[in-house]
Amino acid sequence: MVSQTVDLLKNELPLEQEAVVLPEDVVTGLVLVDIINGFCTVGAGNLAPREPNSQISGMLSESARLARLFCEKKLPVMAFLDSHHPDKPEDPYPPHCIVGTDESNLVPALRWIENETNVTIRRKDCYDGYLGSMEVDGSNVFVDWVKNNQIKVLLVVGICTDICVLHFVCSTLSARNRGFLAPLMDVIVYSNACATFDVPLHIARNTKGALPHPQEFMHHVGLYMAKERGAKIANEVSFGAPNRQLTTADCSQ
Ligand SMILES: [Zn+2]
Repeated sequence: MVSQTVDLLKNELPLEQEAVVLPEDVVTGLVLVDIINGFCTVGAGNLAPREPNSQISGMLSESARLARLFCEKKLPVMAFLDSHHPDKPEDPYPPHCIVGTDESNLVPALRWIENETNVTIRRKDCYDGYLGSMEVDGSNVFVDWVKNNQIKVLLVVGICTDICVLHFVCSTLSARNRGFLAPLMDVIVYSNACATFDVPLHIARNTKGALPHPQEFMHHVGLYMAKERGAKIANEVSFGAPNRQLTTADCSQ
């Protein structure tokens, strides 16, 4: 999609973002959505980028930086990892992130969080991390994580902005509104640490079964819809005092 068209559409759906300050005295939980090889590492599978992509690499570095910060502060972190059994396809998507393959593992820049005591890893076999946290007995790993850690603010980052991030946010907001997630109050999506994939129209037209998915616009739409459902959209996230920006010095990655 040419940038003039994107600009035109964005003007019709203006997205106001905010600089969010996370209060030090309130528990904030970080949710990392599907930051795995199968969606982020060039050439790692059917749904992986085919060439380096700046939106995805920006999401990776921002997510890794936040993960480092949350781990230093010993704040709760939950990482969803898309992981499918080979006999249970996820239509309409081609086979991806099969259990036991490296596609379904965290990207190299985040692999270290597996050893952190404040991190909960949840493998899921659907795009909605809330539903993907349900166990056969009806309990929900994500709901328990919110309650056990007394999380009041949720910061959500990852991929794809308009699919797994959006659906998780929508379900979480519905559950919060129904009173399932006390004491959770705010759900924040940090736009610079989210990304989606790119299938331009001319590629989709020449690919059987593919739908066009212009990256920049769909990223915008994902954020816009999350905001429509009640999420806050941040273009800046910091802890404590309002003017303190996170800097690259906060992260040793
Ligand atoms: Zn999947």
